Parts: sequence; structure tokens; C-alpha cells
Amino acid sequence: MSELMDLYQEVILDHTRRPRNFGSLEHATHRAEGHNPLCGDRVAVSLRLDGDVVREIRFEGKGCAISTASASMMTELLKGGEAGLLQTVFGQFQDLVTGRLIEPPEDLGKLVAFAGVAAFPVRVKCATLAWHTVKAALQNRQQPITTE
Ligand code: ZN
Repeated sequence: MSELMDLYQEVILDHTRRPRNFGSLEHATHRAEGHNPLCGDRVAVSLRLDGDVVREIRFEGKGCAISTASASMMTELLKGGEAGLLQTVFGQFQDLVTGRLIEPPEDLGKLVAFAGVAAFPVRVKCATLAWHTVKAALQNRQQPITTE
């Protein structure tokens, strides 16, 4: 098990050091900002929808390792897929980081690296911030969202 945990740690560290899809997005159709006051994480997610398909998705902001890695992996997962995928995977991801998921479904892919977050309830908000934010973006919410 500890080898597996090391592997998870590496996946998260890799995305913290080299976040994927990081930066601003021109011609975004949807955008939202999120804030986790508990930790100080801030994230803005921009995406370009083409019908139901997420053609482009990028994020900006500054946060802890968990929030950055989660945002990075989330954009990788959603890019090129249907926007509806967010609902399914976000639900599973929330169950994962709160320890309600015994057998992670395959949809989660590398996101299972966040299973360890369940042992640190205060980190759940870090791990889910970008997800709440992209959800708000898809709903065209104007006000920044907060985890509090
Ligand atoms: Zn954080």
C-alpha cells in the first residue's frame, strides 16, 4: 500500500510542479472564479464549449499543491469530452476524497491519486475547488464562488 501511496504522491507532485492547461484562454465561452478561504486557494477556470464538447479548458490562479494538482488533472480529464461528463465524474471525485468510495470507478483514471485526501478532511475543499468552479462556469455564474 505504501508503494501505491508513493505513486499517488508522485502524480500529484508532477501536476503541482508542471500544471497542465495552465494560463488564460482567449475566446472562452464560459469562465468562473473560485476561492477557498480556509487555505487561501484561488482559481479561475475558462473553457470554450463547442456544442456540448469542451474544446479548450484552462485554469489560472494560486493555491496549495492539492488544489493546483486537482485543477490540472481535472482540465486534462474534461478537455475534449462532453460537458456532461463533469457531473458524473465530480460526484465520484467528491465521494473519493471524502472516503465514501471503496472501489473507485475507471472514469476517475489518475484522479484516484487523491484518495489519500480522505484522511485530511480540511483538504477536501482544496481538492474540490476547481471542480466547483468549473461547474459554476458551466452555469454561467457571475459571482465568484467560495467553498465556505
Ligand atoms: Zn489548499
